[in-house]
Amino acid sequence: MAAESAILVLNAGSSSLKFQVVVPETADVLTKGLVERIGEDGSDVPDHGAAMGVVTDQLAEAGVDRTGLRAVGHRVVHGGPDFSDPVLVDDAVIADIRDLVPLAPLHNPGALAGIEAARAAFDVPQVAVFDTAFFTSLPAAASTYAIPKDVRERHRVRRYGFHGTSHRYVSRAAATFLGRPLDSFSQVVLHLGNGCSASAIAGGVAIDTSMGLTPLQGLVMGTRSGDIDPAVFSFLHSAAGLEVAEIDAMLNKRSGLKGLAGVNDFREVLSRADAGDEDAGLALDVYVHRLRHYVGAYTAVLGGLDVLTFTAGVGENAPVLRARVLQTLGRLGLSVDPGRNEAPSREARVISPDGSPVTVLVVPTNEELEIARQAAALLDGPT
Ligand code: ADP
Repeated sequence: MAAESAILVLNAGSSSLKFQVVVPETADVLTKGLVERIGEDGSDVPDHGAAMGVVTDQLAEAGVDRTGLRAVGHRVVHGGPDFSDPVLVDDAVIADIRDLVPLAPLHNPGALAGIEAARAAFDVPQVAVFDTAFFTSLPAAASTYAIPKDVRERHRVRRYGFHGTSHRYVSRAAATFLGRPLDSFSQVVLHLGNGCSASAIAGGVAIDTSMGLTPLQGLVMGTRSGDIDPAVFSFLHSAAGLEVAEIDAMLNKRSGLKGLAGVNDFREVLSRADAGDEDAGLALDVYVHRLRHYVGAYTAVLGGLDVLTFTAGVGENAPVLRARVLQTLGRLGLSVDPGRNEAPSREARVISPDGSPVTVLVVPTNEELEIARQAAALLDGPT
């Protein structure tokens, strides 16, 4: 495969750098890896520049000619309300991403460090692909929180949504798999990984999503609570003497499955529940209840559902969870065929019975491929 058509996809966090060289046209992965503990005590990778050195070494070992790369595609978590499409990185774009740091203090600084390091290391176009972009289409009714206008506007408080690259990829892959035009059906996508999110997609356009101002809102996740009464903050502050930062850390890092069952790995929750662990059983009940809640709500928001698609680690690999979620949703037209649901596969597949009012799919996500494709499409320009 000619390396000149390959794109280096980077997902940079504050202390990690995930990379993959992928050919967008064929989905071939030429090499991939993960640099961890960047800048941490005792690490031999002091900063993102050094991490990029590890990347270039691995590319050389894999026989990928870095001068022949077509572009570097960067996953940027927060693009704010305005970045609805991928963009070529220049100084103005970097300033815009920096301006969004207050909205994504844990994520955008890492992305910026990755972009700066990649600009120095690779003399090819750099493309930023935003995790929020797919959800800039949300109607105001869905994106607006019912709080005072001056606060919303001054501090940019609204629902942004995240995991958009995955929701976009999976919803389009579902249309391709079904051989149906994207604009001809309504779909709910359930991205269930460590982070979890749901989206409602009408004719290919996102009209609702479960994550909000931050990725904390919505479904029960590995370590995040998802939806709670916002008064939990003031209540725990006054009743338990906890500071805002402590409550924030608790809700993001020690809640969700971890808070309920003591572990955040879904496989472990399942095996503990199977063994009769009551906390794990409750964790599953809460996780499933929240999922049904969103599937029902989004069916209503869409005015009826044609396709429900499961994706990511849990969604792709846990038939027992898929069956449980749909168990009570028969009157919404949702059900699974047990044989199809349980058949092991890594491909897109239908798991509902023939003739179901709603087609239920499992579609593996591939965010790196989506970023590479979006970068390539931007460079190719309008056709
Ligand atoms: P991330 O959000 O980090 O990309 P993934 O999409 O890889 O996460 O999903 C990780 C989750 O998927 C973990 O909770 C893991 O336990 C779960 N998972 C992976 N394989 C299975 C499986 N075979 N059965 C149940 N859960 C699984």
